[in-house]
Amino acid sequence: MSQNKKIIIAIDGFSSTGKSTLAKHLAKEIGYVYVDTGAMYRTVAYYAMKQGFIDENHFDKEGLISDLDKINLSFKFNASLGYSEIFLNGKNVESFIRSIEVSNMVSKVARISAVREKLVEQQQMMSIEKGIVMDGRDIGTVVFPQAELKLFMTASAEKRAHRRYKEMIDNGVKIEYESVLENVTSRDHLDTTRADSPLVKAADAIEIDNSDMTVEQTYALAINLVKEKL
Ligand code: C5P
Repeated sequence: MSQNKKIIIAIDGFSSTGKSTLAKHLAKEIGYVYVDTGAMYRTVAYYAMKQGFIDENHFDKEGLISDLDKINLSFKFNASLGYSEIFLNGKNVESFIRSIEVSNMVSKVARISAVREKLVEQQQMMSIEKGIVMDGRDIGTVVFPQAELKLFMTASAEKRAHRRYKEMIDNGVKIEYESVLENVTSRDHLDTTRADSPLVKAADAIEIDNSDMTVEQTYALAINLVKEKL
C-alpha cells in the first residue's frame, strides 16, 4: 500500500489477545516498523533472573535498578522472519524470553518505575521517523499519547489462555492449560493494578474484543481502520 502521511499506530491490550500478530501483519502491509515492547520488558526480566535478582520467592529490586545501566537492548531486523529480533547486550535472546518462567516474572519487573522510565525513553526515540506500529500496555496512554490510531485489544481470559496454550503445545512446550490460565489472569491483575502506567484503554482508543474473532477477521477490521487514517 502506498501512502505519504506516516503515522504512529499504538496497539495496547491484555496478554494473548493477538496484539503482536496483528501489529506485525499491519506493519508489513503498510511498510512500517514494528516494535514489540513486551519483548523489551521480557528481556529485562530475563536479565534479572539470570543475575539472580528475581525468582519465585524473592525480588531484589534495588539490585536490578542499580544494574539498569548495564542493560543494552536493541532490535535487528531478521529478513527471513520478516520482523525484528531483540538483543540483550549484543546477544539474540528471542528464544529465551517467551518461556513460562519469564512470563511469570515479567509483570513484577514491569511494575518498577525505573525500568519503565528507561524503556519508555528508548521507545519514544524510535518514533522520530514515525511510520511505526508499537504494541504493549501503555503505548496509547504514556509512550505515544499523540498516536494517530490507537487500538485496544481484549478477549475473555479463557479464550486467551486457550490460544496461548495451543501455541505453546504446537511449539513442543510441555505445559498444563491451568498454568497458562493462571499466568494470563495473574498478569492481567498485576498489569491493571500497578501504580505506574497501568493497563487501561486510552479515552480515544478503539476497542476490539476478539473473543469470537479469527486472526483474519481481527486483521480485516484493523487494516480498514488503518486505511481510514492514512
Ligand atoms: O506483550 P507481552 O505479553 O509480551 O508483555 C509481557 C509483559 O510485559 C506484560 O504482561 C506487562 O507486564 C509488560 N509490559 C508492560 N508494558 C508494555 C509492554 C509489556 O508493562 N508496554
